[in-house]
Amino acid sequence: MPNLLDYDAAGLEALLAGWGEKPFRARQLLRWVHQLGESDFAAMTDLAKSLRARLATDADVTLPRVRADSRSADGTRKWLLDVGAGNAVESVLIPEPDRRTLCISSQAGCALECAFCATGRQGFNRNLSTAEIIGQLWWANHCLAREQTIETHADRRMVTNVVMMGMGEPLANFDNVVAALRLMIDERAYGLSRRRVTVSTAGLVSGIDRLRDACPVALAVSLHAPNDALRDRLVPINRKWPIDALLAACLRYLDRAPRDFITFEYVLLEDVNDRPEHARELVARLRGVPCKVNLIPFNPFAGSGFERSPREAVARFRDILMRASLLTTVRRTRGDEIDAACGQLAGQVQDRTRRKARREAEATP
Ligand code: SF4
Repeated sequence: MPNLLDYDAAGLEALLAGWGEKPFRARQLLRWVHQLGESDFAAMTDLAKSLRARLATDADVTLPRVRADSRSADGTRKWLLDVGAGNAVESVLIPEPDRRTLCISSQAGCALECAFCATGRQGFNRNLSTAEIIGQLWWANHCLAREQTIETHADRRMVTNVVMMGMGEPLANFDNVVAALRLMIDERAYGLSRRRVTVSTAGLVSGIDRLRDACPVALAVSLHAPNDALRDRLVPINRKWPIDALLAACLRYLDRAPRDFITFEYVLLEDVNDRPEHARELVARLRGVPCKVNLIPFNPFAGSGFERSPREAVARFRDILMRASLLTTVRRTRGDEIDAACGQLAGQVQDRTRRKARREAEATP
């Protein structure tokens, strides 16, 4: 049975056309399901009775089941969502005075195995469906609306920004992620500005080029090293697409991007990539690429083998970048006591790659 959360506007029009319905019905349905958060077809009062009856028998709106809901003292909130067969993914809501950012997962696990990432340690099971991706936004908005006393939908304080930075590599699940992105920016669905929707990639060059053509939104790239030797170790996809190829793809992307810069994420690992010479090499490497650098103090997790850079090392690194006129921010750690901080999301993954078992065997003396 079709789950309506799996369809973007074009998909929904095609589904309804097959039922003999006009395209404007798809617009009505998008509004009900995504903008108003309605999952009961009987409540969709401006739809023809016959269509409501057909929807009730031949379609549904099914969300991942929420297994856990945790809150951190700083207001960060994390949901663990069951996606079946023993897998669960996480999404994180970060409220700030002027915005509410939702960090969304795109895969159950991740196959890319970045050395410092808790998700990568879990192995990989499968891509999430469009419904499972957009369902995270639907659910967060539903919870925000439920907790507010404001009655009119227009006044609700919904999610304002989305970052595809949760579990998984979004560009490795291209079609489902793009359908979800189209819903996020669709005026009839969530109506978010392209500038407020960010895809974060470890550097899949072919995916960056495809995204530029299919649905350009803001782009963040997990760089984490200023040279290929170090990046090969920290972000193994670099062996396929080294830094020069990645930066060239970033420049091509900027032709169509809604923002005139790329964000480079750089997690600072003590004595690994946080020395002054790394900062100076990074400055040289990024010359000519309009960008912002987001420094992320590492969020340790058990068995990671890395330490967070000391505060002085973070400040020194930042100052070298800023002196070279690179726009640089240091990410404030949010939600680390509920393991909701960047790189800490692990969910629950039935690993199909045997990577996790292999690593555990290697670690056993
Ligand atoms: S950092 Fe991103 S791409 Fe790398 S293993 Fe973690 S989730 Fe995957």
